Amino acid sequence: MTAAIVPADEISAHVRKLHFSSIVLDTHDDTTQRFFIKDFDLGRRNSGGQVDIPRMREGGMNAIFLSIWIDGRITGPLATQKALDQIDPVHETVNRFSKDLLFARTAADIRRAHAKGKIAVLMGVEGGHMIGNDIRVVRIFAALGVRYMTLSHFYNNEWADSSTDKPAHNGLTDFGKDIVREMNRQGMLVDISHVSDKTFYDALGLSRAPLIASHSSCRALCNHARNMSDDMIKALAAKGGVIQINYERAFIDQVYKDAYDKETGGVVAHLADLTKKCNNDEACIAREMNQLTKKLTAEGKLPHVSWKRIIDHIDRAVKLVGADHVGLGSDFDGADMPEGMEDCSRLPQITQALLDKGYSDLDVRKILGENTLRLLEQAERVRQEMQAGQ
Ligand SMILES: [Zn+2]
Repeated sequence: MTAAIVPADEISAHVRKLHFSSIVLDTHDDTTQRFFIKDFDLGRRNSGGQVDIPRMREGGMNAIFLSIWIDGRITGPLATQKALDQIDPVHETVNRFSKDLLFARTAADIRRAHAKGKIAVLMGVEGGHMIGNDIRVVRIFAALGVRYMTLSHFYNNEWADSSTDKPAHNGLTDFGKDIVREMNRQGMLVDISHVSDKTFYDALGLSRAPLIASHSSCRALCNHARNMSDDMIKALAAKGGVIQINYERAFIDQVYKDAYDKETGGVVAHLADLTKKCNNDEACIAREMNQLTKKLTAEGKLPHVSWKRIIDHIDRAVKLVGADHVGLGSDFDGADMPEGMEDCSRLPQITQALLDKGYSDLDVRKILGENTLRLLEQAERVRQEMQAGQ
């Protein structure tokens, strides 16, 4: 059965007004990888991928964290260099499309962009391996405008354990703890998506600013190691943090995850296989992954997954900890989207579904973006306090 899709014209006038007047901030998009694909143009509607300016306008997405990501098995100075190779094109892209985009470092910048009718562009580094084991690089990334860093990606690095690797450090090493403190001092949000449970609790105990899970879903609904347990979500919220729900099929639907694991060996193994097969070519990896899941779905080996699962995860987290601690971290352009959420133009459906469930306008605005703005403000306050020696 194909999942129900709400066409744009079925979005009610009230939903439309609320959605398009809100700050709609997505905290995790791998669109940066697409900057390197020949013929990709952020300024026009592309047939592939999930994010470009026309579709962001259509979906009302007016603030985006572009992810800086390289394979977690690349380490040392090369990892830092490769991260810089992606940071520069983000700045260049914002300059090129300055009529539509505005580079943002703070919540105030995002509000300024919104007031001007522009899309705020922020950056997050997805994986602490990119500092090349050098704490000074945290400061350099911060100076270049990076506003969060995910402590690890799929693999452990030298100082933080990942949820999808064998524990090597029992969470954060002493150096890893220094990194978290330095991130606080730079006003950079500490992102605990991907990290092991122990790394999460270590960071939570240590960080002066609330934590962000930039793209994680609920383990109670889909038992994946990189999702968060109810206890973790409660602990995160108790210290002011926010879980930004990830839309990847294998992270939101248990039946799909089990079937996908059976067919491919799981997301980490599958990605490692494709990386080899495609000789590190990201466009090839994305294409191959997409083709295979399409084929397996057509053959009935993978079940259909409705975009409504995203709402289930938002609602689960809201029921646990309230609307102040939940947001959106799609993983667009880095994950397989559920049916009906083919790209960012579909976002008004989320607002419609939450209002249909009885959420207040205020709570919907918080989930769409205001919660993340609050986190950025808190991180900025911590930066000022620490730099004043408090
Ligand atoms: Zn990720």
